[in-house]
Amino acid sequence: MPRAVAGPEIERLIQLLARVPGLGPRSARRAALALIKKRESLMAPLAGAMDEVLGKISTCEVCGNMDVRNPCSVCTDETRDPTILVVVADVSDLWALERSGAVSARYHVLGGTLSPLDGVGPDDLNLAALVTRAHSGTITEVLIALGATVDGQTTAHYVTELLRDANVKVTRLAHGVPVGGELDYLDEGTLAAAIRARTTF
Ligand code: ZN
Repeated sequence: MPRAVAGPEIERLIQLLARVPGLGPRSARRAALALIKKRESLMAPLAGAMDEVLGKISTCEVCGNMDVRNPCSVCTDETRDPTILVVVADVSDLWALERSGAVSARYHVLGGTLSPLDGVGPDDLNLAALVTRAHSGTITEVLIALGATVDGQTTAHYVTELLRDANVKVTRLAHGVPVGGELDYLDEGTLAAAIRARTTF
């Protein structure tokens, strides 16, 4: 058992940081030390920012996004195309698509994907609100932007069936060659999907 090099308060800080995705125990120690060294310029503002977010964060009643306002910044953004609705599994996917800058639309966050193995069924997802939105008359296209996994594609099919009665075009993300990707590094499933989804030059 190694002897403690810091008090229990600092050990607790490290243990909490280690639970942040992307940080393991080693990175958490490094992060904790950086925070301690920069306590005025980094730790205090970080603690303040976290406290401020913690007090205001809520789930958007319209789309399921998480924000410090409700309805969220995306739902209240008048510059977005209100006719396209992008369905994503998680807030992280919404952020990822926004980083691409390729679409200026509204979103609908399901809160996961259908997963019989993990016991996630339709009632566990934000689906009823999606059906209501698709029937609102404003939306003409629902873009299903779910992962190319078994659960993602199962959910995509389920959502497509669910929206069959709505007067909307249902589209999905293309599957294929990643930008910058070499063909001989790709698996057969991706290559086959890319061939099936080929487009005219
Ligand atoms: Zn929203």
